[in-house]
Amino acid sequence: MDFNETAEHGMLREAVRKIGLDFGHEYYVEKSKTDGRMGELWSAVAQAGFIGVNIPEEYGGGGMGLLELSMVGEELAAAGCPALLMVVSPAICGSVIAKHGTDEQKRTWLPKIAGAEDPAYKMAFAITEPDAGSNSHKLSTTATRDGDEYILRGTKYYISGVDEAQHMLVVTRTGVDENSGRGKLSLFVVDTDAPGLERTVIPMEICAPDKQYTLFFDEVRVPADRLIGAEHEGLRQVFTGLNPERVMGAAQGTGIARYALEKASAYAIDRQVWGVPIGMHQGLSHPLAIAKIEVEQARLMTQKAAWLYDTGGDAGEAANMAKYASAEASLKALDQAIQTHGGNGLATEYGLATLYGLTRLFRTAPVSREMVLNFVAQHSLGLPRSY
Ligand SMILES: Cc1cc2nc3c(=O)[nH]c(=O)nc-3n(C[C@H](O)[C@H](O)[C@H](O)COP(=O)(O)OP(=O)(O)OC[C@H]3O[C@@H](n4cnc5c(N)ncnc54)[C@H](O)[C@@H]3O)c2cc1C
Repeated sequence: MDFNETAEHGMLREAVRKIGLDFGHEYYVEKSKTDGRMGELWSAVAQAGFIGVNIPEEYGGGGMGLLELSMVGEELAAAGCPALLMVVSPAICGSVIAKHGTDEQKRTWLPKIAGAEDPAYKMAFAITEPDAGSNSHKLSTTATRDGDEYILRGTKYYISGVDEAQHMLVVTRTGVDENSGRGKLSLFVVDTDAPGLERTVIPMEICAPDKQYTLFFDEVRVPADRLIGAEHEGLRQVFTGLNPERVMGAAQGTGIARYALEKASAYAIDRQVWGVPIGMHQGLSHPLAIAKIEVEQARLMTQKAAWLYDTGGDAGEAANMAKYASAEASLKALDQAIQTHGGNGLATEYGLATLYGLTRLFRTAPVSREMVLNFVAQHSLGLPRSY
């Protein structure tokens, strides 16, 4: 077992960090507050070949894996510029299409997701529905075959970045399993400007460039060749994307925590109120040290989950645990960094409270803390399920 990162990984991290720092957290905040997205940053990362680092080389990607993609996500967040849509476009959509798409679909979609055709390209992902919530078996957005098309009807909510994405991967119900009564699901790539598709923005208290939308599918027609892989196999297929989603969420959380702890340490060395640096008081240094330990635990767990995924192992348990550990550690680290800054911790200028909403989000999404605990209780401990 070798815990040293390769020289190539070191160079990848350094190159991504440089791009992130060139833009900086002020850019992130300005874009968030002016509704401006983060197009320039995304395109710069894509042009350097890092958005599609996990996409196979034959489709215009970097030919590496989820481990490297998680490094990209972590370094951007550590530079104060977390890119939420990396969780969605390359991690979920890229992984699902690379694994389950036909050869033709891979040739069509993967170079786009890799940013090889247009560095601004993004694919959104739509599974969550108002009435189904965490229970994907209850999804009620339907896709009905009509000749060489499918017709989509239903509602999705909290779908990120639909205004910035050219397409989205939509999870629909195409039938019902007679034995279990559960929905049979199918995945479609849908144009974000398709006729019949309406969207309304959901006002959020998160300082992030990417906006959240409710989507209304009113008889949206999609060509049959937009069905990814096989009909009714959507649930199995979507699971391919969920472990990368969790790993990327975890990587971004630990990146934010690194950013916060770096700022907190610098401030605690510099700031004096009783004639000594505030960092000398163990009331401040110990909570920061604990946060550092817990963030390193979460980073190791995240790297292990990514490695398991890339080497074909069962990454479910590791990805869920990493997501939990990272969400808790990053929120604690950010909170302690804010505390270290006294009143300044809540000022926009110090660039910490601006990340609170996003860091808090990781407890709820991409999968909630409770659903992770359900997974661990049932799959790791063999406990019976309550639902
Ligand atoms: C900023 C943001 C961005 C998002 N982006 C996307 C996106 O791009 N695409 C997308 O499809 N979705 C997206 N989501 C949706 C997100 O994945 C869901 O909000 C999340 O999975 C929780 O689902 P819910 O909101 O329906 O909560 P609910 O399912 O209604 O759950 C409410 C609460 O009950 C708990 N709960 C539910 N069932 C159980 C149970 N069996 N045991 C214990 N507790 C339970 C949950 O953990 C939660 O705390 C986004 C959400 C946000 C806020």
